[in-house]
Amino acid sequence: MSKRAGPASAGRGLAGLALSGLALARGDVDRSAHLRTDLDWLRAAWADQGTRVIVVERGQALSELDDGEARLEFVPPAEAPDGVQFLLGVDDDGVAYFGVAGPLPGQPRPGVRAASLREAGPLLSDRDAGLLTHAVALANWHETFTHCPRCGSPTDPVASGHARKCPVDGSEHFPRVDPAMIVLVTDPADRALLARNAMWPQRRVSILAGFVEAGESAEQAVAREVAEETSIAVSAVTYLGSQPWPMPQSLMLGFQAAAVGTEIKVDADEIAEARWYSRADLSAAVASGDLLLPPPVSIAHRIIQSWYGSELPGSW
Ligand SMILES: [Zn+2]
Repeated sequence: MSKRAGPASAGRGLAGLALSGLALARGDVDRSAHLRTDLDWLRAAWADQGTRVIVVERGQALSELDDGEARLEFVPPAEAPDGVQFLLGVDDDGVAYFGVAGPLPGQPRPGVRAASLREAGPLLSDRDAGLLTHAVALANWHETFTHCPRCGSPTDPVASGHARKCPVDGSEHFPRVDPAMIVLVTDPADRALLARNAMWPQRRVSILAGFVEAGESAEQAVAREVAEETSIAVSAVTYLGSQPWPMPQSLMLGFQAAAVGTEIKVDADEIAEARWYSRADLSAAVASGDLLLPPPVSIAHRIIQSWYGSELPGSW
């Protein structure tokens, strides 16, 4: 699924390629945005029994899961339930893919069951991971943003589910995506700053993260969140890569930054504990069961792994 990161040498920046192949950033089906308003094409595609539809209900779709692999279970358009439809794209063979937000088909084949992005995402092919991420993001949005923020009228899906329009005042509304930053902070000894959010279970730690505020750059959000949560000042904020995280509607922007000092003072409201870990500290803490790291589907896992220099030990 992913390129293994090579050994990291102390104090060096993470290679740009270290974050290639992020679990939910692998889509390879052309989104075909120009076809979203082509009503004749859309009608013909929906009438074509070769068209494949993913049904999404509450963030889950049917997948066949076995032995560390997953495949999306598509239905032909005639078997899709009623619900908002969205064109996901067209592949190199001309096969059209749609999503529908509606009840999952009952009584699937043996071995096929409902699975979330978090569970199936890392196990799916590039094609299926991209389709499911796209479909879940749109389904989540349609489920929540049903009314016009200007006048309160119910809005209608347009552009094959990629926008909604108010029939009263004509305003158009687009899927909401909340940018959030996540950052590996290292000290001069190349130790990593890991913290436990106050709402997480005991032992679970990760790198620091937070939402980008209105009128703020992602780099400013990195410096502000790290300072608020741990009192650590950072410099050399470097962008690493991004991954959609539609649970329900985030885009995770990954960074690394250098700590100016090492004295941590946690914001007890948000962070229960935070400390510096060398690679040896991390191995030992995971091996003894004192630490649980974020799962492979997350950008946090991949950033920590890139710093660590090889596959992370432990289970999640
Ligand atoms: Zn309106």
